[in-house]
Amino acid sequence: MLSNKPSVSFEFFPPKDDAGVEQLWNSIKALDKYSPDFVSVTYGAGGSTRERTIAIACEIFEKTGYRTIAHLTCVGSTRSELEEILLQYRKANIHDVLALRGDPVGGPSAEWTPTLDGFNHADELVQLAIDMDGFNVGVAAFPDGHPASQHNFEQDLQVLLNKERLGATFAITQFVFDCEKYLQLTQALEDAGSKLTVYPGIMPVTSFKQISRMLELSGGTMPPAMMAQFESVSADPEATRELGVNIAAQICRDLYAAGATGFHFYTLNNSQATQQVLDKLIDLFPNK
Ligand SMILES: Cc1cc2nc3c(=O)[nH]c(=O)nc-3n(C[C@H](O)[C@H](O)[C@H](O)COP(=O)(O)OP(=O)(O)OC[C@H]3O[C@@H](n4cnc5c(N)ncnc54)[C@H](O)[C@@H]3O)c2cc1C
Repeated sequence: MLSNKPSVSFEFFPPKDDAGVEQLWNSIKALDKYSPDFVSVTYGAGGSTRERTIAIACEIFEKTGYRTIAHLTCVGSTRSELEEILLQYRKANIHDVLALRGDPVGGPSAEWTPTLDGFNHADELVQLAIDMDGFNVGVAAFPDGHPASQHNFEQDLQVLLNKERLGATFAITQFVFDCEKYLQLTQALEDAGSKLTVYPGIMPVTSFKQISRMLELSGGTMPPAMMAQFESVSADPEATRELGVNIAAQICRDLYAAGATGFHFYTLNNSQATQQVLDKLIDLFPNK
C-alpha cells in the first residue's frame, strides 16, 4: 500500500458559449469521483477572459467547494485593475491565485509590451497578492526553460526562487513530456533550499495537430521520439488517444516514482482522456 498518495488537480478554461458551459460542467461532474485536491481556471490570452474567468472560478468554488486557483496575468492591466480583481476573489472567498505575466500577442517569445501603470514580470504580481494579504500564491514553472529567456535554465531557476522569496508557495509546470527535465528542475530547487510544491502539468494528448500547435504557442517541447510516435498515428484519432493516454499514465508513474507529489491535468474542459489516464493509475489512489 502506498503511503503518500499523489494529489490530483484539474485545469479548466472559461467557456465562451452555452455549449461550452455545458461541456465544462459535464467534465467537472465526471471528474468529481477523483476527489480533486484543487482545480484551476485559466485567464485568457491578453486578459481576454477577465470577466468570464472571475465568474466561472467563483461559480466552481461556490457549487463544488473545491479549492479553486484563479489564474491571473499582467497583460493589459494596470496595477489597480489587478488589485480590483484580487479584491473580487477575496470577497468570493477564493484565496488561491496563480500569478503569471501572460504573453504578448505573438506568444511567449514575442517582444513584451508593458502596460502603463502595469507590471513587467509576474514577480510584481506575486508581490501585490502577498501584500494584499490572505492569498496563497502560486506561479508558473518551466522544466524546459522559458522561451523568453532562450530556455536559460539558471535564469528561470533564479526567477522561481525569487518568487518564492516574495511569498509564492507552489508552482504548476508547463506540460511535462520529459520526466528528466522536471526532475532536473525540482532537484535544482531542492539544492537551493526551496520548499515550493511543484505540481507537474500533465497533458493527455488526443490530437497531433492540437499538441503541435500548443507546443508552438507555449514554447514547450516534447522529446523527438515521442513526437514521432504521435505523428505516426496522427491520421487515426482512436490510436492517437490510446497512445496519449498510455504516455500520460506512464509519465505520471515515472514522476511519482521519482518523488512528484501530485499531477495537474490540463483537461481542456474535456474529461474523457483525463479519466482514462486516472483509471490506469488506480493503484496509486487506494482511497479515491
Ligand atoms: C501552469 C501554467 C499556467 C498558465 N496559465 C496561463 C493563463 O491562464 N493565461 C495566460 O495568458 N498564460 C498562462 N500561462 C502562460 C504564461 O503566462 C507565459 O508562459 C508567460 O510567458 C510567462 O509567464 P511567467 O508568469 O513565468 O512570467 P515571468 O515570471 O514574468 O517570466 C517571463 C520571462 O521573463 C523572465 N523574468 C521573470 N522575471 C524577471 C525579472 N524580474 N527580470 C528580468 N527577467 C525576468 C523569465 O525568466 C521569463 O523568461 C501559463 C503557464 C503555465 C506554465
